Amino acid sequence: MNNSKIWLSSPHMGGDEQKYVQEAFDTNWVAPLGPNVNGFEQDLEKYLDQTTHVAALSSGTGALHLGLILLGVKAGDEVICQSMTFSASANPIMYLGATPVFIDSELETWNMCPIALEEAIIDSISKGNKPKAIIAVHLYGMPYQIDAIDAISNKYQIPILEDSAEALGSSYKGQKCGTFGEIGVLSFNGNKIITTSGGGALVAKDEKIKERAVFLATQARDNAPHYQHSEVGYNYRMSNICAGIGRGQMQVLDKHVGLRREMHQLYVDTFASIEGVTVLTEPNPDYFSNHWLSAIIINPEKTNGKTREDLRLVLEKANIESRPLWKPMHLQPVFESYPYYGTQVSEQLFENGLCLPSGSNLTEEEKKRIIAEIQLFF
Ligand SMILES: *Cc1c(COP(=O)(O)O)cnc(C)c1O
Repeated sequence: MNNSKIWLSSPHMGGDEQKYVQEAFDTNWVAPLGPNVNGFEQDLEKYLDQTTHVAALSSGTGALHLGLILLGVKAGDEVICQSMTFSASANPIMYLGATPVFIDSELETWNMCPIALEEAIIDSISKGNKPKAIIAVHLYGMPYQIDAIDAISNKYQIPILEDSAEALGSSYKGQKCGTFGEIGVLSFNGNKIITTSGGGALVAKDEKIKERAVFLATQARDNAPHYQHSEVGYNYRMSNICAGIGRGQMQVLDKHVGLRREMHQLYVDTFASIEGVTVLTEPNPDYFSNHWLSAIIINPEKTNGKTREDLRLVLEKANIESRPLWKPMHLQPVFESYPYYGTQVSEQLFENGLCLPSGSNLTEEEKKRIIAEIQLFF
């Protein structure tokens, strides 16, 4: 039997990517600007919501950094951040010399807990340091509790920086993820639902915010014949080559969302008859996840002591990649001295959770291999 490596999530080209890249070469637009950059931005605006304004950037991390700057975050400010996430959500807070305040997850979507969020805000305000922004994340493509988090954001007038890096193609009540926050962020890293080999985007409601993002992302050049600067700039624009890959990928985005959702359904069906395993699934029909990664929780009390680590090692032996959930930021050595509000939900999820192979390019044979290993294990 073929034993080649099965990845958690790997790039999946649609076919037209090289055509756009070739066009960039043919017209010598080999630069961090050009027709593919504009085209990719328009494709994203059309996909998300025609009223949005998208700036294509070199990474999701860069987009988060600019997002915080555009929301006015400065050294010494407090910024609230979901604890259970990839470190890229939190690192830009540190770039600015601001202080992260980490918030636990709730069990429904595994994202930011509204109760712990409000507790943190009240505490910060009582100490005279009202947080400047809330970084909320749609983990593994699952929308966070948008109505509850929005209500708190409105009540205390603190803007949301929506980390939608994992959730392009997800939606809540029919509205696309990436369009909920004051500013939204997307990522096109190699393992995301679509890729530009590396890249990101900032999604703004206001065209002026987009223009300001592009200005800062291209070294903050003032309007002058020479190089004139009155502000600190960044080199965060997307290249026209990468954007060409992105244009090809946009043509297959919905198809890839469909395939990831099918893979998720296969896991739901497989685990339906296995005691003690929960698959992360939409809590109700308002939620639509792209199921970027399918993730499970194993309760060893109900599986005769079998743990997620046991399963991970069995899969690894079969050359199948799986990975524990994101380790919460408040448990990371680099962030452990910062404030944290919660009741250990994210700790429990981290201890018992596992992400399973979820790529849109898994073959039928690979799917059979994965399911067979899982069934054998349980
Ligand atoms: C991937 C990711 C990012 C960062 O995006 P890059 O394009 O890799 O810089 C940020 N937040 C989350 C939740 C991510 O998964």
